[in-house]
Amino acid sequence: MKCKKEENLKDCPCTYPCDKKGLCCECIKYHRERGELPACYFSKETEKNYDRSIEKFVEENK
Ligand code: SF4
Repeated sequence: MKCKKEENLKDCPCTYPCDKKGLCCECIKYHRERGELPACYFSKETEKNYDRSIEKFVEENK
């Protein structure tokens, strides 16, 4: 399967400078190992705080 990095980048909302951008498999693995969620789970405003915690996700989606 061909990597869809370029295609994924068009939809990636993450504003953090990171080499995993567009590599969704690496991105979710990184955050999952830390008990977190990737930027695309958060609103545009919340994403900018770089708090990727599940607690933050729950707080935002109450
Ligand atoms: S969500 Fe996290 S791993 Fe994914 S591109 Fe942004 S900072 Fe990198």
